[in-house]
Amino acid sequence: MDTTLHPKRENSTLMCTQLSAERGQRMKQYAESFYKSRIWQNTREAYMKSKGGLCEECYAQGICNAGEIVHHIKPITKNNIGNPDITLSWENLRLLCRACHEHAHRRTPKRYTVDEYGRVTPTGL
Ligand SMILES: [Zn+2]
Ligand SMILES: [Zn+2]
Repeated sequence: MDTTLHPKRENSTLMCTQLSAERGQRMKQYAESFYKSRIWQNTREAYMKSKGGLCEECYAQGICNAGEIVHHIKPITKNNIGNPDITLSWENLRLLCRACHEHAHRRTPKRYTVDEYGRVTPTGL
């Protein structure tokens, strides 16, 4: 049975690293080829479908918003781009709307903060 929700397709090329690209930085090349890869496209589609196309953050608050971006909880870097446990694992993915995605990137949780004297304080995360 088809579900009642059909995620919008027109923004389907929007992706996580595009945010930084929009802010004037060039998208890193390793990320670009990853986001263009068929395996990522398939993972992304399947993940979105599994969430019914809804933003997970909004849904947790009882709001139904269309999810637009599949976000990596643990960010993709040059070092882990070849590691499917990071890049393709559903454990590391989250379907977010634009607003929640921006939010997620603004407050990246840190386990420790380092002050100007180099003192390390755990944040309790
Ligand atoms: Zn949302
Ligand atoms: Zn993201």
